[in-house]
Amino acid sequence: MSEVSWQEIDGILKRSHQAFLSYQKVTGKDKASFLEAIAKEIENIGDSLIRTAMEETNLPEARLAGERGRTCNQLRQFAALVMDGSWVEARIDTAIPDRAPLPKPDLRKMMVPLGPVVVFGASNFPFAYSTAGVDTASALAAGCPVVLKAHPAHPRTSDLVADAIVKAAGRTGMPADVFIHVHAAGFETGKALVQHPLTKAVGFTGSFSGGKALYDYATQRPDPIPVFSEMGSINPVFILPGSMQARSEKVAEMYAASITQSVGQFCTNPGLLLSMENNHLDEFKRQLADKMKKVAPATMLHPGIAGNYLKNRQHALAQKGVTLLAESTDMPGQNQAMATLATVKAADFISNPALAEEVFGPYSLLVTASNITELKAAAEKIPGQLTTTIIGEEEELIKYADFIHLVTAKAGRVIINGVPTGVEVCPSMHHGGPFPATTDSRFTSVGTDAIKRFVRPVSFQNFPQALLPVELRNENAYGIWRLLNNSWTRDKVS
Ligand code: NAP
Repeated sequence: MSEVSWQEIDGILKRSHQAFLSYQKVTGKDKASFLEAIAKEIENIGDSLIRTAMEETNLPEARLAGERGRTCNQLRQFAALVMDGSWVEARIDTAIPDRAPLPKPDLRKMMVPLGPVVVFGASNFPFAYSTAGVDTASALAAGCPVVLKAHPAHPRTSDLVADAIVKAAGRTGMPADVFIHVHAAGFETGKALVQHPLTKAVGFTGSFSGGKALYDYATQRPDPIPVFSEMGSINPVFILPGSMQARSEKVAEMYAASITQSVGQFCTNPGLLLSMENNHLDEFKRQLADKMKKVAPATMLHPGIAGNYLKNRQHALAQKGVTLLAESTDMPGQNQAMATLATVKAADFISNPALAEEVFGPYSLLVTASNITELKAAAEKIPGQLTTTIIGEEEELIKYADFIHLVTAKAGRVIINGVPTGVEVCPSMHHGGPFPATTDSRFTSVGTDAIKRFVRPVSFQNFPQALLPVELRNENAYGIWRLLNNSWTRDKVS
């Protein structure tokens, strides 16, 4: 695999732009048929898709089958969304020609697609964040063609899914080149895809260095474009003393499983646990350590990620004040990761930003503070996150309400008494967070609101009915919202 030349990229984006000229006008109903057809074609591939992904990613069958189900479910959720049509947020203010002192014009507003979107497939989700993953599904739902850069760690899996998309496009009469699949190794191709003048937005999931680099390429353009990078997160978990007293064993069990699930290769992996000194802390440490030791080393997604885990784990363990509490008892094989639990005093954590960096894999650091003031100081040092969790008994949650408010400012999703792994795909999910978790905390990359990343609002003033987008015409009931008696109602315009 090698870089793709500038001439080839220019040709790809020109074809994608050409597709945009007609795809932006495709009705919600027809886009819904297309998205449904993609899901069906992916399911039609059958077991060979799972087998290929298993060979390329080392992920187990059950995990991959579940992820394929999630991916098809996402596609169908976007199909239902565009079928309904209200997602375009149509607003209609009809003219009042005799208003004094000035007449009011006819004004109508709705969301329109941005244009070709470049999506980078992720290594850790070969289906749900890759070729037909949420970035692709939401861009296609919005009316944007997609140029997909396959992740080099699972090229054959990506080919199978790309074929399914192209087949679905042909079967449902979508424009040629509504989806273009690109294989390349090397950063120059990614850079050129982001910087091509016809690219209008970018979706990415992966490392901080990769996501930030793409964001920087986009801002260096003469016409900067939005880049939605979902990057590293250590997903801090604050364990309040009452819960250690009441159910330390249960919390330890839940967290040993969450830290090591899928060899820790989740963006929502709990890489940081924080607590205050209390009579039950030592018991909790012992219980968690025992459970982590029992987790067998497992093979990571690809040798690069395994190498990074070893390097980053060593770097974290070498920091001042950090002590290794537990690691998998069994010896790791090639490209395997050992489950690891380390601990450090809050004072050392507060003075060393390196301890708040992601160690991507089955690793977690337990930070112990002497009191709530020190715990707050540690929380202040944690940068933006996808999630944060508070484990506590009902009464202490109320007692620490101010603290919970403080940590809420740091994350896109705040969890009480649960684990951050296991992201529910539904409209109320927000999967995004303040920088450096993502490059734009206002948007989600899970759930139907992900479509909002690839659209922009346009106001149409005094347009004749025939020139208006169908969603804004008087005869259409759906998507027409008016503010009546201080509440939004949906009705027909007469
Ligand atoms: P990655 O290095 O971020 O790469 C993802 C994609 O972005 C690849 O297609 C890569 O191109 C491209 N890319 C990366 N840097 C680029 C740059 N400077 N310019 C242009 N394109 C660039 O992610 P990865 O390969 O999946 O894993 C590497 C490390 O990322 C892991 O060890 C882990 O630490 C971290 N990671 C974190 C998460 C998370 O959810 N937090 C998820 C996955 C990975 P190439 O194909 O040419 O390399």
